[in-house]
Amino acid sequence: MAPVYPGCYSLASWRRRGATVQVLEKSGGVGGRMSTKRVGNAVFDQGAQFFKVRDEYFEALVECWAWQGAMARWPAGTSNRWVPRPSMTGLAKALGKSVPVRLRHKVRSVRHHDCGCWEIDVEGEGMMCAERLVLSSPVPQSLALLEAGEVSLPREIKASLQRCEYHPCLARMLILDRKSAIAPEGQEFAEGPVRWVVDNVDKGITQGAVSAVTVHLSSEFSVENYGAAESEVFEKMLPALRPLLGDAMVTGRALHRWKFSEPKTQHPQRCVWLPDMRLGICGDGFGGPRVEGAAVSGMALAREIAKTLTHE
Ligand SMILES: Cc1cc2nc3c(=O)[nH]c(=O)nc-3n(C[C@H](O)[C@H](O)[C@H](O)COP(=O)(O)OP(=O)(O)OC[C@H]3O[C@@H](n4cnc5c(N)ncnc54)[C@H](O)[C@@H]3O)c2cc1C
Repeated sequence: MAPVYPGCYSLASWRRRGATVQVLEKSGGVGGRMSTKRVGNAVFDQGAQFFKVRDEYFEALVECWAWQGAMARWPAGTSNRWVPRPSMTGLAKALGKSVPVRLRHKVRSVRHHDCGCWEIDVEGEGMMCAERLVLSSPVPQSLALLEAGEVSLPREIKASLQRCEYHPCLARMLILDRKSAIAPEGQEFAEGPVRWVVDNVDKGITQGAVSAVTVHLSSEFSVENYGAAESEVFEKMLPALRPLLGDAMVTGRALHRWKFSEPKTQHPQRCVWLPDMRLGICGDGFGGPRVEGAAVSGMALAREIAKTLTHE
């Protein structure tokens, strides 16, 4: 299993070395936490909103994707914010063309056999076998798959993985009947229930709505209200949002509950690669709590695995 960002970097480079690769994705689309959602005629980026680039190699890749039209600066011109086009899932879709992705393949457990192979139990599909396994879901989800398959990891590695925790995030999607007072480049808040708000129309996402607003609630609010009813979350956050909405009326809404949004802590390594088991674990829990961190982690793991491909 090797989901979108770290996975695609890794898979493309392994394929060039002759490996047969397969991505298993539980959802009906690619993108993971860089996902885009349609509600009626409105289109929202509901997870990551943009990303920044510091790593030189990643920057070169991003520039290349921008040249191909899969990426743009937002707002146009001076910003260090990058957004995939036509929306956040755009890049995953572009990368997914070069690797085989099986959608709606939810992995239930992974088991390591004495012969060295991995047995992967996929819901509704049965068993699949692999020589190497990469897990790049949020670390608690990866650990759960290993535990379900009774895989015993080296004690220190397991303890270091168990320390990787994530913040939850409630994401609200609101359709408005007219433009609001939200700044075109979005607004971040250090206090109160709202952490981030943006109108996806101002991000340049093509759609049928006049205004399609994504609201991310703060981690404190999200922890407190994670299990609350959709209408209760709406009522509680509305006073903080009201001044930004101006005269606009909410004509449609949706809620997404991100159980694992961003890591609270970082694993000390860029990725975990256990050559004896041929098991790799990567993602934003390792390389940094953001899109770039997930990419950097995936690239680090790709390099480790590529060494073993060259030697065999
Ligand atoms: C609300 C929110 C806001 C964010 N804002 C930003 C931002 O503005 N900038 C930024 O840089 N980052 C942001 N992030 C973080 C960023 O989205 C992540 O760091 C990055 O997308 C992680 O990518 P990944 O490929 O490592 O993991 P994911 O995107 O989580 O990919 C993991 C994939 O594994 C799949 N999966 C999980 N379990 C299974 C299973 N059992 N079987 C099969 N498939 C499975 C999932 O469906 C998913 O597609 C935000 C995240 C959230 C949730």
